[in-house]
Amino acid sequence: MARDPRTAAIRAGLNTDATWNAVIPPISLSTAYRREDPAVQPAFDYARTGNPGRSTLAAAIAELEHAAGAVVTCSGMAAIDLLLHDLPFGARVICSHDAYGGTRRLLDARGRGGRLIPVYVDTTDIDAVSRALAEPTALMLVETPSNPRLRISDLRALSNLAHEAGAELAVDNTVLSPALQRPLDWGADYSVQSVTKLLNGHSDMVGGVVCVADAGKLANLVWWSNCAGVGAAAFDSYLALRGLRTLALRAKAQCETAAEIAAWLEADPRIAAVDFPGLPGHPGHELAKRQQDGFGQLISIQLAGSVANARDVVQRLKLFTLAQSLGGVESLANIPALMTHAAMTPQARSDAGISDSLIRLSIGLEAPAELIGDLDSALVP
Ligand SMILES: *Cc1c(COP(=O)(O)O)cnc(C)c1O
Repeated sequence: MARDPRTAAIRAGLNTDATWNAVIPPISLSTAYRREDPAVQPAFDYARTGNPGRSTLAAAIAELEHAAGAVVTCSGMAAIDLLLHDLPFGARVICSHDAYGGTRRLLDARGRGGRLIPVYVDTTDIDAVSRALAEPTALMLVETPSNPRLRISDLRALSNLAHEAGAELAVDNTVLSPALQRPLDWGADYSVQSVTKLLNGHSDMVGGVVCVADAGKLANLVWWSNCAGVGAAAFDSYLALRGLRTLALRAKAQCETAAEIAAWLEADPRIAAVDFPGLPGHPGHELAKRQQDGFGQLISIQLAGSVANARDVVQRLKLFTLAQSLGGVESLANIPALMTHAAMTPQARSDAGISDSLIRLSIGLEAPAELIGDLDSALVP
């Protein structure tokens, strides 16, 4: 019987300290671990290869994601890159056309050397995905909800299509975290995420994770993580485990506040369009209800105005902080075209529906009425 995820997140690693019976697992900063016998491999040997806190965090996230195991890396990008190491030279990789800007930058850079062939597709369009999979493909990387437009891709349908075509499916689960979505339950082979965001939630560390459905594929990722030296540091693992303890509560409260703010924005004539999967008019609303346990903490808005107007509005915000990132306890505002998605070409942004004046909000844990008050004042010219 699987444990309730709230229990799993709280109990992970507790009462494991044999030296002092510390309740909270202590942080182990040592680079090296002493052997009793040179010929016997100890549980921990050298800190790049593994450290106890990183292992505890990996096991906890794997349990929440319903995975056979997980590899915790030093960033979300390192986690995505880890998926690419064993692909054959020149492998085709299909990716959601509105994926995170850094993901596109990585795939494009690998593509320039011929290492991979990245192909960008609107993964909410099943026919477009089928056409793209007609050519031999090694991996499909889907981001749902996509960021910043919050489009919802059908994970069950995409995993069936990918597997029929002989491709593996990886899902970037950063925006929702395992508290709100578990891609492996819908047939995905990998769930990757930036631990930096909702999972840690306190905006004080950078990390990533690859969760694997098939235990047989785990050893290879562990091998590459050690070989390339991309495992997470002990202190970052410690912070992320502490953040994970309250993930379920934070995610629930942030979803509730985001729903309240999205409804307020939708009713305001100064806003031309609101992207939020929780709104009944959102094209992915029914799918999100089926596939997710909440609608998430992100809202994107299009003002009824010009580019300069969007810049002015975010600069007038007093409670929201104008900064990159998402998922933390603090609310942030961002103009993707100028900030998070600036690495994309203008053409790629336009294909993905990211206008120069789109504003993305990440809703934190402040009082909903005060966040609405801040938006209301900032929207007054
Ligand atoms: C931030 C982010 C990443 C990259 O994670 P880092 O921890 O910053 O390396 C990948 N995917 C999505 C959706 C993200 O938001």
